Amino acid sequence: MKRAITAGLNIWKNRGVLWPFAMLAGVAVCTVRKIPRGLIVEPSQGCTGGCTGCELPKKPAVLSSKQLRKWLESSPANPVTIHFSGKHSDPLASPEIEELTKTARKSCSMLSISTIGLGLVSPLEELPVDRWIFSIPAATEVSWLKLRGNNRFNEALRAIRAVRKKSRAMVEVVLTIWKTSSGDAEVFHQLEEKENWQHTRVVFGRFDPEGNHFERLENIALDHRDCPYTLENETLTLRHTPAGCPLKGYLFLDATGTLRPCPFTGDESPCEDEPERRSWDKAKLWAELKEKRSFSACRWCP
Ligand code: SF4
Repeated sequence: MKRAITAGLNIWKNRGVLWPFAMLAGVAVCTVRKIPRGLIVEPSQGCTGGCTGCELPKKPAVLSSKQLRKWLESSPANPVTIHFSGKHSDPLASPEIEELTKTARKSCSMLSISTIGLGLVSPLEELPVDRWIFSIPAATEVSWLKLRGNNRFNEALRAIRAVRKKSRAMVEVVLTIWKTSSGDAEVFHQLEEKENWQHTRVVFGRFDPEGNHFERLENIALDHRDCPYTLENETLTLRHTPAGCPLKGYLFLDATGTLRPCPFTGDESPCEDEPERRSWDKAKLWAELKEKRSFSACRWCP
């Protein structure tokens, strides 16, 4: 809640005095038309991480700003928030990221981007987003190297510094705990003080059997006492299954231009390919299925 309020105050300052009214009007329209208020968008299937052992698609799909515009124009209501994120990919790998940002910003009240920060080149620090989320997989060079097979830890730190220097957006740094970085939380907090990061979080890596490298079983921090997963009869399970869906207020548009219930469901779950009103109407029916955690990916969703 504190993060949301801080983000809201920062956006208000940057977007102008009428912003809260526009945002509340957007929430009201989404509620009345029964459309989720958030859209997570995957700009590209490409990645800038270059991890050893990660198999990316040979020709990564790239979402064009034209495709995004078609989806937004066919929706019964503009989303209140649009969040650029990857699914085993990174938004900064998209050659269209600047155009996508312009298109998205016009259609929502809050625009955020989640990235590892690698591959950030000028003038991307000044992308007109309201919030940057840097998601780093380790807080030391040693654990980064062990997990990723390369050492780009300092490159990520430089990217965070560059954005904090040039952007007026809120900047948050998130440490994702994997097996090799399971002891990194304390160092991360030391880094937070040293770098004067204002907004930080520590989260656990999520298991995803489709993961190209990171999200596989061998990288999950099973030995950490707070890890949400455990192994039962050699099968990975959640220690506690939460009620409902953590992304109930969101839909996911992937880099191929397909609308899905969330970033974790695949082709075995419902999806829509055509940017038209009918697709959004069908997507409304996913809300109940999400809340009941009906999809196969839900069994690993902490
Ligand atoms: S995997 Fe299931 S519970 Fe998790 S975000 Fe997706 S729909 Fe919701």
